[in-house]
Amino acid sequence: MYSMPLYRPPSEARSLIIQVTEGCSHNKCRFCYMYKCKQFRLKSKEEIMEHVKELKSYYRDAERIFLADGNVLCLKTEKILELLDYIKKEFPNVKRISSYSGPLDLLRKTEEELTTIHEAGLELLYMGVESGSDNVLSLMEKGVNQTEMTLAGQKAIKAGFKLSCMIISGLGGKELMQEHAVESAKVISAINPHYFSLLRLVVEEESELADDIRQGKFHLLTPLEVLDENIIMLENMELEDCIFRANHVSNHVNQAGILNKDKEELVKRLKKLRESGNFIPLEYDTL
Ligand code: SF4
Repeated sequence: MYSMPLYRPPSEARSLIIQVTEGCSHNKCRFCYMYKCKQFRLKSKEEIMEHVKELKSYYRDAERIFLADGNVLCLKTEKILELLDYIKKEFPNVKRISSYSGPLDLLRKTEEELTTIHEAGLELLYMGVESGSDNVLSLMEKGVNQTEMTLAGQKAIKAGFKLSCMIISGLGGKELMQEHAVESAKVISAINPHYFSLLRLVVEEESELADDIRQGKFHLLTPLEVLDENIIMLENMELEDCIFRANHVSNHVNQAGILNKDKEELVKRLKKLRESGNFIPLEYDTL
């Protein structure tokens, strides 16, 4: 039914996944292992129809649909509009359609195109910002710089999408920790997304970053340094009504709140943990 591996954000756990493309058209980020084993390709209309027919036999009443794989917005706008119409007809109970969105795809589309796509039913976008630092973005080969990332996020919001942004804690390594924390806070604050998720860097063997670590070019943060970085990042956030979550399996500490309303409390809790001398991180590591 699906070309594996298949990924979706944690908050789409109950959504029906429709695989419209396979892989990621960028597929270069050094920390990312998600689609390394997949050649990017667009599925044909016939393949999508066959896929939907099969899915419908199990999940006819789906209310939430997530469009996979990595970046459905790379499709031509007329194709996306056609696809959204088709999905709404096939799943009449659908209340929310969402997808990942690469910054490059958002930048390539005009504001009018994005507004039309949103009005046609694509409601929520997930954008991996990863870092706000130009140096980190460049080292990790994300394909955009700080300014472009900020513009992409702002453009999505202006077009009416609900936007969820992710930052990867520890992505600056020891050398760029401070810069990663401060600049990431700057970019997230400038975008002011509806949702902000903080994940922690977990390095898989398949990623290029694993080679960088073996060659001594990148140094992972210790759990206490991750905590310090989180504190700096939160302290520098200037957000309005942003739902914040750091409750991914990768996080050492589970956090949740509304930023900036809960900023002081969140920072206070992290500092208390830092100073307690008995901080035991929730562990999930592969390297
Ligand atoms: S992080 Fe996103 S853009 Fe980068 S390679 Fe992975 S899926 Fe593609």
